[in-house]
Amino acid sequence: MSQRDVRTSSSSGHTETFIFDFDHAHDIEPMHLRSLLGGKGANLAEMTRLGLPVPPGFTISTTACRAFMHQGWPSGLDAEIAAAVARLEERMGRRLGDARDPLLVSVRSGAQFSMPGMMDTVLNLGLNDDSAAALASLSGDERFAYDSYARFIAMFARIVLGLDPTPFDERLHAAMTEENVLAEGNLSADVNRRLVGEYRHLVEELTGHPFPTDPATQLHLAIEAIFSSWGGARARAFREREGIDHDLGTAATVQSMVFGNRDQSSGTGVAFTRNPSTGEPTPYGDFMRNAQGEDVVAGTSITQPLDELDDAFPEAAAQLRLVFTQLEQHFRDMCDIEFTIEQGRLWMLQTRRGMRTGAAALRIAVDMVADEHIALTREEAVSRITPDHLAQVLHSSFAPDARYEVLTSGLAASPGAAVGRAYFSAEAAVAAHARGEAVILVRTETSPDDVAGLLVSEGVVTSRGGLVSHAAVVARGWGVPAVVGASELVLDGDRARVGTEVIAEGDWLSLEGSTGAVVRGRVPLASHAAPPEMTTLLGWADEVRAGHLAVRANADTAADARAARERGAEGIGLCRTEHMFLGPDRLPVVREMILADNDADYQRSLERLLEVQREDFLGIFEAMDGLHVTVRLLDPPLHEFLPDLEELLVKEATLGLSADEQRLLAAARYWHEENPMLGVRGVRLGVVKPGLYAMQVRAIIEAAQHRRALGGDPHVEIMIPLTISAPELALARGWVEEAMAGSRSEHANLDVRIGTMIETPRAALVADQIARHADFFSFGTNDLTQMTFGFSRDDVEGKLMAPYLAAGLLAHNPFDVLDAEGVAQLIRLAIERGRGANPELAIGICGEHGGDPASIATLYDCGVDYVSCSPFRVPTARLAAAHAVLARRGVSDRL
Ligand code: PEP
Ligand code: MG
Repeated sequence: MSQRDVRTSSSSGHTETFIFDFDHAHDIEPMHLRSLLGGKGANLAEMTRLGLPVPPGFTISTTACRAFMHQGWPSGLDAEIAAAVARLEERMGRRLGDARDPLLVSVRSGAQFSMPGMMDTVLNLGLNDDSAAALASLSGDERFAYDSYARFIAMFARIVLGLDPTPFDERLHAAMTEENVLAEGNLSADVNRRLVGEYRHLVEELTGHPFPTDPATQLHLAIEAIFSSWGGARARAFREREGIDHDLGTAATVQSMVFGNRDQSSGTGVAFTRNPSTGEPTPYGDFMRNAQGEDVVAGTSITQPLDELDDAFPEAAAQLRLVFTQLEQHFRDMCDIEFTIEQGRLWMLQTRRGMRTGAAALRIAVDMVADEHIALTREEAVSRITPDHLAQVLHSSFAPDARYEVLTSGLAASPGAAVGRAYFSAEAAVAAHARGEAVILVRTETSPDDVAGLLVSEGVVTSRGGLVSHAAVVARGWGVPAVVGASELVLDGDRARVGTEVIAEGDWLSLEGSTGAVVRGRVPLASHAAPPEMTTLLGWADEVRAGHLAVRANADTAADARAARERGAEGIGLCRTEHMFLGPDRLPVVREMILADNDADYQRSLERLLEVQREDFLGIFEAMDGLHVTVRLLDPPLHEFLPDLEELLVKEATLGLSADEQRLLAAARYWHEENPMLGVRGVRLGVVKPGLYAMQVRAIIEAAQHRRALGGDPHVEIMIPLTISAPELALARGWVEEAMAGSRSEHANLDVRIGTMIETPRAALVADQIARHADFFSFGTNDLTQMTFGFSRDDVEGKLMAPYLAAGLLAHNPFDVLDAEGVAQLIRLAIERGRGANPELAIGICGEHGGDPASIATLYDCGVDYVSCSPFRVPTARLAAAHAVLARRGVSDRL
């Protein structure tokens, strides 16, 4: 066993190596050992291996942290730390905290994935009264020695002992005012010495214990604090958001100190090898003379731009440029770097692949494919772009430097940010829009009656409803930013309240549909012109997923279809015909159809609907020429097209009703159901309203024939919703074929397929029987989720979802992220049984999950041929579909 490869026995009797020196001879490149060494430890070892100037040190691996989490401080760890410190002391020719010539170290946490919220850096560890005096006499610089000592105590108190930094900061600022200096490094030795005393006194006062002066104790406490911070609330919250496993644990690095605060020929800085906001290939960063690392990062002191490093430290600057190139070519990515210059000499303290904005990520990925020294593959470039990166360039957001207070929040239902004046009804919204005002429509929930208001609004807020509620679905479809289910919001006529705060009609509101935030006033927005690299990169994503997973759009109008195609949709996976009935000119005809009490009136209204439907389909087929268009026959319960029963009853009791309204009231009563989502909808409507589906099929076929006559190339898919059995689909297929036979001219030779949605658990279970009558399946995962969980899709997010998520009873809202354990099982089973019975069966999904990256990965795994989502989510779906395909090939990337 080599001296560096110390093996110890943990209390469980298991033999572990907990510690690795930076120059440990690993069997594989250390940069691939992030799960063992943490990102920081792996990269320090890698830089050491590359021969870059890295101050020596060692890494306490994540194995030690995991052991700590399970059984407390691992029994063999103290011995390993002592041995590692001894090796470091021998190499540096100094002893930790020695009273004559002290070795000082920095201690940092470093998990496998970059993790804000973890314990940060402690510098100058090893200082106490004796070693500080030694440092002063050796360097001949008392200011430097006591500056380092004071910084150490303040940092240790805050980070390791968890004390509030305020009283320490107050004393520091008082000292700076007293000496009239702007930077901590310019305080005199005397004042620093006094601060040391004050800080030590504060620690004793606040903890009840004297400041620990023994260097080995300091080191032990710092490492223990790092391991403990892994389990802290902030770190846990971050991991939950990012989907990082809580069991990974963090590593800790211990590195000999170099001193940027040594004198005026010293300094410290942080840099990116390229511009992290724009991706421009020029280094970017800040540095500070006579300072230590935290001064630059904390943003509390005045820094100089990196460009000025050439004047300040010409040799170190030239060397740093070479290091930038070397690091980029080695890591094949933009890197972020911490460096220190001690008396003119450059030291590398840290590197990692740098965080970047969406625009920068796209530019860097595309540039690095073109760069022959880096030669990133297209697949790697695609894997480096996250859905968040795309969202940043596709949708507006609150400006990053904007200051605002969130008034209330709800579900992030449709991305993008909006600013406008609050209006509380569709009519008021339309009127305000006509006056030239920007409008935010605020409703309890939206119904088809609100469509006109939605159309003119910059954004929508509702106090009720979930991610698949009407408002959410329509807003997403139209790209209108929306926050739904903001349950603190109470609407009352032409005003609303959040607690005691009143929002009156016309008040300015801002909302961010990507986060769910609602803010009073006008928050400045960030512009969002998509960079040209986005088109290139999404083209590469398309290459990756070609033949594996297609992306279609849910589009109900020709305009939506065009928007979808522009964004790269390869057809329409769901055209909800009911949305064609929502326009102010159409709703009355639909109501006539519902109200008709004799066959002649009923047929007349169907004829009028046929005409408008045919026109709509014609436009859609034109926009999607050459691609498949799946048209779903009418699905929603009919009461959705009628005024609200309660409102009619209130009006009847107060103002009275006109004759027409009386008829509407009778119809609303007749069609009212206790559980409309489980009621007369989908194919059941076809059964109770004969002729309705036949009319829709005629409109579709006539429109397709017309397109053909004009030289177009329509590909029609007619979809039956909410099927539960084979006989039901056989019956519905019969209606469709009959209507087609009636309207199809002999030579039209149209490509028409007939299929069904799989939206109920029963349909999934008997998919083999149903598949015998279907050319395709499309999973309606909104309803399938609703019916599998027994969660009402319109209500569950109101009261239940938040407590369920908070209690950990659900990992995600299943209407947002497809339930991979339950619902996906039904999908997998239905695909297997469906394809078993009908190998030609085409299979897609058109629920809202079709636009969610995590769900797309699950669905690809289940075996769907395509996903379909709202037009504005198509670019994200193209990227996520490519990621799903790449993941199966073992290509993935995580910063
Ligand atoms: C579904 O249920 O997933 C679906 C696409 O249909 P809708 O949302 O219109 O009920
Ligand atoms: Mg459905």
